[in-house]
Amino acid sequence: MTQNYLLPRIHVLAKPTGAICNLACSYCFFLAKEALYPGSRFRMSDEVLENYVRQLIAAHRSSQVTVAWQGGEPTLMGIDFYRRAIELQEKYGKTGMVFENTMQTNGTLLDDEWCRFFKENNFLIGISIDGPRELHDAYRVDKKGEGTFDRVMEGLRLLQKHDVEYNVLTTVNRVNADCPLEVYRFLRDEAGTDWIQFIPVVERINEEGHTLYQRGETVSNRSVKPEQLGSFLSCIFDEWVRNDVGKIFVQTFEASARKWLGLPSGMCVFEETCGMGLALEHNGDLYSCDHFVEPDYLLGNILEKEISELAAAEKQYRFGQDKCDSLPQVCRECEVLFACQGECPKNRFLTTSAGENGLNYLCKGWKAFFRHINFPMQIMTGLIRRGYPASEVMRVIALEDAFSRAGRNDPCPCGSGQKFKRCHGTRKKEKNLKGRA
Ligand code: SF4
Ligand code: SF4
Repeated sequence: MTQNYLLPRIHVLAKPTGAICNLACSYCFFLAKEALYPGSRFRMSDEVLENYVRQLIAAHRSSQVTVAWQGGEPTLMGIDFYRRAIELQEKYGKTGMVFENTMQTNGTLLDDEWCRFFKENNFLIGISIDGPRELHDAYRVDKKGEGTFDRVMEGLRLLQKHDVEYNVLTTVNRVNADCPLEVYRFLRDEAGTDWIQFIPVVERINEEGHTLYQRGETVSNRSVKPEQLGSFLSCIFDEWVRNDVGKIFVQTFEASARKWLGLPSGMCVFEETCGMGLALEHNGDLYSCDHFVEPDYLLGNILEKEISELAAAEKQYRFGQDKCDSLPQVCRECEVLFACQGECPKNRFLTTSAGENGLNYLCKGWKAFFRHINFPMQIMTGLIRRGYPASEVMRVIALEDAFSRAGRNDPCPCGSGQKFKRCHGTRKKEKNLKGRA
């Protein structure tokens, strides 16, 4: 079956150094990936690079092409590799085509030359940082086991100095999940970012405690607990919805707002199906997803088949559909299914009380979070639908807060001049999720 309609929307994450990294973050699932390619130098060849750029362009029907670089640590390839990538984009790009190169990096190898290059070529840089020093250094360590906070911050300051566009990716793990406001305020005020991506750490292990990729009956003690994730996100949301809407973009909150508006979320984990985000290994092997870089999910090699053909193959279509086809009954009946969609299949390894497989390990956290944000989300999306900016929600929530603090005989915070008990004190908050639309 050929799913040509998929092609304009595909996104490929290229990993030119494979799993190779200069650090050794304790929870990194990529480190185990070295075993997939024994004996490899883990460097993308010029032949693979040229094919990648040419085929990616050919697979796009829109004029905007995102070229995403990730690792391992992609800066280990050296600047000349990326200079060549830009040359190839110019060579194969069609008239009017705009390229956006993005790179996810730990930031520790950046210098002035890298930053000048990023600036000149409009790279968007994602810096991986887990919060202030003591939280970041809990797991983000180098090969000697030493914390990397200072080196990451040095890289981040260089990006700021050269005015390079950047955002942050923060894992939510067993340690930093207990400090939501510390993490959020650090990212906002110290790391100076206005765009934050939170990724929950779910690291599966077997009975002996060995880390296993996508297998294992339980999770490591570095993994975030579901309840921790729920309260971490809820707590940050409360701060954000009162102070930062329209100024700070938290990917999960933006995606949620889109879901409450009935739109695609922009985050694969909250979509009904998978299959649009592929992963390209250093040797040209193309996989179904960055989280499924393993033999069963290998689609083929781009030196033998075009990306567009591999992405449109039946195998990838099935991979995408399986996300919804394998939803357990509890998800199908869940009040927040419209937002959650059972989250990522890689985290679906619990058995429900009815004995059904495939419940998401993070379920309790996502359910708590989506329930928690329902009321402000209803307000915000109601405002957006009526043509107001989303940031208006902060004014409404401030009033709501004043209502909840007001005593029965206090003047009503709405300014009517009446007693609260005779004015807004009579009304009840709408809390029913079914009424979201
Ligand atoms: S498997 Fe998970 S990460 Fe991959 S596309 Fe699906 S939801 Fe996204
Ligand atoms: S909150 Fe839980 S039950 Fe509901 S859709 Fe998500 S994973 Fe399924």
